[in-house]
Amino acid sequence: MIKINSLFKTYKSKNKTSYHALNDVSLTLPDNGLIFLLGKSGSGKSTFLNIIGGLDSCASGSIIVDNKDLLSMKKADLTAYRSDDVGFVFQDYCLIDEFTVCDNIAAAITSKEVCDKDKINQMLKSVGLDGYGGKYPAELSGGERQRVAILRAIIKNPRIVLADEPTGNLDGDATKTIFDLLKAISKKHLVLVASHDSESALKYADRIIILEKGRVVSDSYNQPEDNDTKCEVVPYHEQINGAFCSSKNQNNVCNGRIRWLFLKSKLLKIALYSFIVSLIMIVMMLAQTITAFDSAKVMKDAFKISESDSLLLTKALDNSQKEQLDRLNKVADCFPRITDSDIIAFRDAGYDGRIYPVLKCNIDINRSHISAGMTTNLFEESTYVMEPLGVMIVEEDFLKEKYGKLEYVARADSFHPTGVIITDYLADSMLQSGQLTDINDYDGLIGEYHWGSDKASRYVSRGYINGIIETGYKEKYKKLLSTVEKYGFDYIKESLNNEDLLQLADDIHTRYGLCYSLNPNFEKDALDNASWDMVWHYALRFGDGDFFTTDIPQVRRADIYGINLGENEVLMEMATYNRIFNKQYTAQTIEDFVPHTETLSHYLYSELNQDNAQFVCDVTIVGLFVSNQKEITGTFVAGEDIYNLFAKSHIYTTGLYFDKNDNLTMVIDTAAKNGFRYNLIVGESVETLTEIVEIFAPIFRIMAVVLYISIVFILMNFASKMINDKMKEIGILKALGIGNRAIGAVFGIQIWLIALVTVILSVFGYSMFVNQANDLLINSLRMIAPEKIIPGLTFFDFRTDIVLQNSSVVFILALISYIVPMLRIRALDPLKIIRTEK
Ligand code: ADP
Ligand code: MG
Repeated sequence: MIKINSLFKTYKSKNKTSYHALNDVSLTLPDNGLIFLLGKSGSGKSTFLNIIGGLDSCASGSIIVDNKDLLSMKKADLTAYRSDDVGFVFQDYCLIDEFTVCDNIAAAITSKEVCDKDKINQMLKSVGLDGYGGKYPAELSGGERQRVAILRAIIKNPRIVLADEPTGNLDGDATKTIFDLLKAISKKHLVLVASHDSESALKYADRIIILEKGRVVSDSYNQPEDNDTKCEVVPYHEQINGAFCSSKNQNNVCNGRIRWLFLKSKLLKIALYSFIVSLIMIVMMLAQTITAFDSAKVMKDAFKISESDSLLLTKALDNSQKEQLDRLNKVADCFPRITDSDIIAFRDAGYDGRIYPVLKCNIDINRSHISAGMTTNLFEESTYVMEPLGVMIVEEDFLKEKYGKLEYVARADSFHPTGVIITDYLADSMLQSGQLTDINDYDGLIGEYHWGSDKASRYVSRGYINGIIETGYKEKYKKLLSTVEKYGFDYIKESLNNEDLLQLADDIHTRYGLCYSLNPNFEKDALDNASWDMVWHYALRFGDGDFFTTDIPQVRRADIYGINLGENEVLMEMATYNRIFNKQYTAQTIEDFVPHTETLSHYLYSELNQDNAQFVCDVTIVGLFVSNQKEITGTFVAGEDIYNLFAKSHIYTTGLYFDKNDNLTMVIDTAAKNGFRYNLIVGESVETLTEIVEIFAPIFRIMAVVLYISIVFILMNFASKMINDKMKEIGILKALGIGNRAIGAVFGIQIWLIALVTVILSVFGYSMFVNQANDLLINSLRMIAPEKIIPGLTFFDFRTDIVLQNSSVVFILALISYIVPMLRIRALDPLKIIRTEK
């Protein structure tokens, strides 16, 4: 029984006058029977049905159903009430067009049992729609559709069936069928029919209520005509009660089939969207992989491939040092000093093997290269190097260990304290350089070594070679060397990934390319006794002026030229002087030069900005000289005292040699953290790549933000279309008593599916393209720098962390893009959808 007590429903019009659509309606409705609500259009019939049906609760008064007042129920309870207790039949049927008849009926219920097709077909048979289960609403007549709608309304065995103008769109025959059916249903249910068809009312109604301007103006019992047609539906109704309507609806739960039906039509679109989003994801993951490029890992891989037993590291310039050099227009080919604290860092990291400092070397091989101490240009034109890597102070055992023996192919009778032992490979490099016109064999190199192409300028570089040791490299690289001899060096370089060449490079870096000294005091002796005649001076500063660097900065010993200079006296090359002091002396005016004394500070390039000069002294510039000889284009010619200051600051540790240890890869890790660079052949490609990555990283970061935003847009676009297309269906489902969350899930699954397919596609694509990116990179590096040997290493790996991170982001973005549609589902008023538009 439903008790309605002074029910008011008031609408406010735009001009603020209020209008009672229902005006003090009080009624008691029984548990069964067919009640007709009659009245003209606008009299409040629909309003009344909607309120009774729980679609509208904004009214005053009370409607007591099962001791509960509908008008004070919460939204969720009203939804449950609609789902459990109400069956709606609308004038324009409100069937879901893309569902079959069977699915339309099943949409109102959730339990699997009721979804049984056979049972639904049986129901259809009983209303004369045998075999209609698989048809679509568009294939049915109005009367047939309304019968389907009625079945949908009663399948869940509701307390009341509300039919708003159920025959408003139907002709006479169809009207009869529908009322016969409703009449049959009313035997066990309360059926409320809103209609203005008083003829049918008299024919079928048990009770007729007439509304006028929202008021009940008549409420009377009616004796319906005894009509035998209704008999045929009675058994059907019994059957429904017995078979289908046993249990209450688990309200608010949508059955999986509905989800699937909505999903089905969107599969192609979902595939398309997933594809687009996954393309974006792949680009993003690749960009991230490049940005997250781990140089230490590549180095470790390279190191493992090389099977090296030692590692030579130099220190790299940091960014501020690079900037400083850029400002001075100086190419950054210098080697920062390595200090004890650097060594401590490796010890702290757990390296307990031997570490040998490698000092700058003073032996020139080729004119084209400054003897910077550590070669950066291996293999520019031949398998022989252009300069040694530096001097290592070792014991004889070390050499025996490295070369399997200690055998001199040439040696001095007595070793000079600042002399070095070189390898036969280095000796061959010197002989091969073509610069030593009067030295043809190993013996010629022994003793005091002078570098220079002719007599006049030969005293530019000088050192002592104590001995040349046998390395066996010729035997080891027999094949490589004979191939080079036959086809030229370029041939070898073009046959990329030449394992032998890489191996040779590694051997040069870890043994052949080094000079050795057996004198434990080598460094001190070398500092005390500069044994060469020219050093490169790095950066100078006069007074508090700007730092000054030149392209070919040299300091020469005056005595080599037979010049005598007093204490602190220097001669300066005219052009250099003009540059430093901004003067315009010419060969004609050079005599006008007035000697003057200046404070001179000397810096290493790498320490320019740290205000720690190598030395500061006063020099008197006593004269200028003009140089037309390239060989002596230099800044200074200095007497012994000043020269020695330069010479001493010229010797320092530029490399660290890590010997045999199980844990050399750990050294690479520590090196990467402490700004070291690797003198492995791949080091250069890795460094180039690191630089490229540094340039692209900020671009990639901006790109990532843009791409993430675009993904949100794409997903939101999908989500809003998904909802917009289905407004009517969502309204119907809500009217049927399906909860927001259940409806949300129906559509949410589409977004999740996009996210899922996107993740699968993008992981798949990413794993494919990551390898491609690798190949592309290596090929481009080879194209950009054909002079470099670029081994086929794996620079970019499949990064699980990046995949996981991006996959979660996709799911989060999917969630975000779903929030708005979800809110719209929540806000959607089913009344707006199901209200009959006339
Ligand atoms: P019936 O179904 O009997 O034709 P309704 O219940 O649809 O009548 O409407 C009753 C009255 O309430 C009408 O005057 C109608 O204009 C008004 N009405 C219905 N819905 C609204 C609404 N959402 N806003 C304002 N007035 C409304
Ligand atoms: Mg109406």
